[in-house]
Amino acid sequence: MGDPVSGNESSVRERIIALDKQRVWHPYTEMHAWRERAEPLVIAEARGSRLIDFDGREYLDGNASWWTCTLGHGHPRLVAALQRQAETLCHTALAGIAHQNASELAEALCAVAPGGLEHVFFSDNGSTAVEVAIKLCLQYWAQNGRPERKRFVSLEEAFHGETLGVTALGGVEVFRKPFEGVLLERIQVPPPREPRDHDRAFEALERAVTENVDTLAGVVLEPVVQGAAGMRSYDPAYLRHARDLCDRYDVFLVCDEVFTGYGRTGPMWASDHAAVLPDLVCTAKGFTGGMLPMAATLTTERIFEGFTGDANRAFYYGHTFCGNPLGAAVALEVLRIYEDEQILQGTRARAERIAATFRELGQLPGVVHTRALGMIGALDLAGEGGYLADAGWRVYDLALERGAYLRPMGNVVYVTPSLNIPDDDLDQLLAILVECVRAVAGG
Ligand SMILES: *Cc1c(COP(=O)(O)O)cnc(C)c1O
Repeated sequence: MGDPVSGNESSVRERIIALDKQRVWHPYTEMHAWRERAEPLVIAEARGSRLIDFDGREYLDGNASWWTCTLGHGHPRLVAALQRQAETLCHTALAGIAHQNASELAEALCAVAPGGLEHVFFSDNGSTAVEVAIKLCLQYWAQNGRPERKRFVSLEEAFHGETLGVTALGGVEVFRKPFEGVLLERIQVPPPREPRDHDRAFEALERAVTENVDTLAGVVLEPVVQGAAGMRSYDPAYLRHARDLCDRYDVFLVCDEVFTGYGRTGPMWASDHAAVLPDLVCTAKGFTGGMLPMAATLTTERIFEGFTGDANRAFYYGHTFCGNPLGAAVALEVLRIYEDEQILQGTRARAERIAATFRELGQLPGVVHTRALGMIGALDLAGEGGYLADAGWRVYDLALERGAYLRPMGNVVYVTPSLNIPDDDLDQLLAILVECVRAVAGG
């Protein structure tokens, strides 16, 4: 074993970085470029809407740590719930065992979920939540009279996670391309980006469903906002249209609410914008307020019943940490805080400030397109390059100097702060955003 990291502050910091560069392989990162980056951010603490680095410098967390910390970092009630639970039961298997947290969380989750979702399958992260959903669809049809139904419709630029199964549904080219030859078959359709695209997009979806109805297991969508695509939104009417089609042809509608759930877009679920009742809903990220890796897939009585009656029909699938008591205790406390602190109601005024700021940034010559919905604001900087473009990173560097963390997606600069970010912090975050985008995009 190596020596524990200790010593004076700056030598400790240097040693963390040296070990990191030697050993740690970072997600979504070209590692030579990372190693050459002289000063990586070393985060030591996080509180509320702030990340605090090793030297005590604070950064407003512009993306709620990868879209997860809907209640800010270290919410005292979440920390207390975790501590309490750690003293009684940290882990037990969920196969063949029941425990209080899993029971109460499943009940509380169904109570806030779209109508008709009656059963909860727990897993560890957003990718597995969607993986569970697609396996449920495939196995359901396989043993309920439609074994030829094995394909899915998904959207261009979709992101549903990183397991091999859900990679197949994705449309972000750099994530998908290396695995092209070994993926499940999906049928990709373009979402309606602009009002003028509506008819064409509706027709494409309708064709995809009607022409493939015999082999189609489900339609999988990020409802209303596609996060990893660059915070691209589409008209909720599209979602209603998808629901109607799925009803008409008896195909399952899967809503991947991993990013959009828990009030990110305003209401609890993005599917609420369209008053749509999905057959399956996937949740993660905000599900534990970003504190622990835990996820859930919710489904209907009909799908649940399709797996009963005979041992051969059961869902032989699980993860070691299904229903983990620590995660479940925190996830349950998250729902209580949403209610007690009126979290969704509290976002309305903040959402309006975000929208106003992005409207204003839309006037700049180097900004091509802005959008805002709920606690999401995003803009595109002019220029080509997709996910690997670098104009956003110039904004990132400037923002870091001014005390804000604004990780971009290529040329897309966005904010997705915690839902309960204090007004002063939000003002400061938006002021830094405006200053840095102006510096890069002119005006
Ligand atoms: C982040 C995300 C996922 C994957 O979640 P992980 O926890 O990173 O596996 C799936 N779907 C959507 C819409 C996401 O934003």
